[in-house]
Amino acid sequence: MYAVEVPADAGSDEFRRVARRALSHEIAPQTVNFVPSGSSGLFPILPEERPGFHLTVSRSYAALLDDAICHRAEDRFALLYAVLWRLKHSEPDLVSRTSDAAVAQLSLYGKAVRRDVHKMHAFVRFHETSAENGPVFLAWFEPEHFILRRAAPFFANRFANMRWIIATSIGTAAWDTKELTFGPALERPRNLHDCVLNEVWQTYYRTTFNPARLNTKLMTREMPRKYWGSMPETGLIPDMVSGARERLADMDRQPDVSPRFAAKIGRSRKPESAPANDWAALKQEALGCTACPLHLAATQTVFGEGPLDSRIVFVGEQPGDFEDIAGRPFVGPAGRMFHRALKEAGIDRAQVYVTNAVKHFKLEPRGKRRIHSRPSTAEVQVCRHWLFRELDLIDPELVVALGATAAQALSGKPVAVTKMRGIELSWPDDRRGIITVHPSFLLRLANDAARAAEYEKFVADLRLVALLVGGTELDIRDGKRNAA
Ligand code: SF4
Repeated sequence: MYAVEVPADAGSDEFRRVARRALSHEIAPQTVNFVPSGSSGLFPILPEERPGFHLTVSRSYAALLDDAICHRAEDRFALLYAVLWRLKHSEPDLVSRTSDAAVAQLSLYGKAVRRDVHKMHAFVRFHETSAENGPVFLAWFEPEHFILRRAAPFFANRFANMRWIIATSIGTAAWDTKELTFGPALERPRNLHDCVLNEVWQTYYRTTFNPARLNTKLMTREMPRKYWGSMPETGLIPDMVSGARERLADMDRQPDVSPRFAAKIGRSRKPESAPANDWAALKQEALGCTACPLHLAATQTVFGEGPLDSRIVFVGEQPGDFEDIAGRPFVGPAGRMFHRALKEAGIDRAQVYVTNAVKHFKLEPRGKRRIHSRPSTAEVQVCRHWLFRELDLIDPELVVALGATAAQALSGKPVAVTKMRGIELSWPDDRRGIITVHPSFLLRLANDAARAAEYEKFVADLRLVALLVGGTELDIRDGKRNAA
């Protein structure tokens, strides 16, 4: 029996290193004992990796590893090694067999980890403090699993211009506007409720609180009380809950804010579901956006559309001439080509959500014509918060960037589409993603043969999209979206 020392919060890279050492010597899972660092006792230590050893793993195993490794369960290392051993020796398609006990257990671990990451993204609240060279924003969070390194890049992306520190019981992440660093765990700060930023959160929460959606059971399940201590808005909850009945009666007495708008999106005055209500409110807000000059020349904001429980969101660049007039995304020539390609890939357009990185048409008037002009980095940057709010609401399994502008909006930096297309990746907010070309690129190709070849590549990328959401192409085409 060998002892393999791994730190409790070991990440994928650390695990890969020890797994390679063990595999390179053909050490079977039943003779490997994963133990915390410094506790190997009398067991023999694993030998160094055999020179020249070569190992590649499938993307599906890498994804399983990246998620499950962050779980607190002590048996995760042993399970991951056992699955890797079987993959290498006799069962190359093991990860796709979700009925296998080890794969199923690791998938459950992965799911719990993703949920914890989602909670951290949603419930971290920064509190402003002053330091020598300007304000620093502090936050405290108590994760269930070892997710700090996994979740922190999201905050570096979202709060890139703030200096912040997130302290947790498992470690500390700090961002100085340039570099993300990690340190040891800290004790929970005594009083997080005296800081200036709290007022901002409280105002936001007070104004967005909707008594019609009050469900205290659901609220405590989705926002467990253990997070309340560091969330300034939770101090308001008792009063708001007790006043909810009165506010609800008040809302019922109010005339409809915009019946024409409600009719346009095909719902009655009383929303049927919370996401529909939130989405409609978000769209309404975006319709009035004047945050950048693009709204001056365009006809209207073109917001995303599609089912709000969609498993896939496609993100394009910006509305074109047709979309600007119709007020709907992907209804022009590029949109028609996109729909045809979706169909060929086995994806039902009615089952997916489509939107754009920039919500107003950027154009250059040329005589009577309005010529498409690519949005600048600043315009993409200022508009991306609408996109992220759409994604937060829909919470899809996969976000597909159509073209460089969408990829830049989602990743926060320029992306070389030709290098990155057709590869499964993680966006900085930890959502799974894939990049392909924008359908308008195909339309711009003058050569018929080149266009046909690129169209085939585009359809192939979309087929991969269908497969990445976990089902066969048929599952999606038939609308059996929950069956996978
Ligand atoms: S392009 Fe985006 S940020 Fe600019 S005005 Fe339109 S919606 Fe607002």
